[in-house]
Amino acid sequence: MIFDVPIDKVNMKQAVDTVEKFLSEDKLHMVATPNAEIVMMAQKDPEYKDILNKTDLNVPDGSGVIFASKIYKEELPERVAGFDLMMELIKVASAKKYKIYLLGAKSDVVKGAYLNLKRQYSGIDIVGFHDGYFSKYDEAEIINDINEKNTDLLFVALGAPKQEKWIYENRNKLKAKVAIGVGGSFDVIAG
Ligand code: UDP
Repeated sequence: MIFDVPIDKVNMKQAVDTVEKFLSEDKLHMVATPNAEIVMMAQKDPEYKDILNKTDLNVPDGSGVIFASKIYKEELPERVAGFDLMMELIKVASAKKYKIYLLGAKSDVVKGAYLNLKRQYSGIDIVGFHDGYFSKYDEAEIINDINEKNTDLLFVALGAPKQEKWIYENRNKLKAKVAIGVGGSFDVIAG
């Protein structure tokens, strides 16, 4: 626990194993990657703090969180950056044919991320993608699309705290097995 935000003591391998276990269970699991900035945001935003206390896994993203854990004598094993976790999950998903959906970023960015991932991972099964600038009206249709395509792994790149709030708000409608907020990762993948 760092400033009332729980952080799981997992290294990358344990984080990936935990997500794979989530993928074998028939319910939505929420994953967050709190870094120092997110922990600080949560101090000023009780709703955000509450959501971060309800996620199924919070990986220690960032040296700030690791440093704070040392002050608290609660040593965390290693940094598990959100982007790195996404890339590890992409590898596992490609090998095991988990269905991936990309939601977020600008429309050319998410399309670019989709194309780059398809190019790099031959076995990858990306069932759909949508940009992150949608209205409440479009939302129902996007959620339908995610559900109809039997998404296993939903990457949500709306930035923090929007992505965690969006996942939490829609947790009862989403039929994916895992939803994870990945911030600016699509921008990096799109290049
Ligand atoms: N974004 C979005 N919809 C929004 C606001 C942001 O899709 O309403 C996207 C934005 O295009 C970018 C990502 O969310 O791809 C935010 O990245 P940023 O690096 O700001 O997030 P952080 O990693 O700091 O959480």
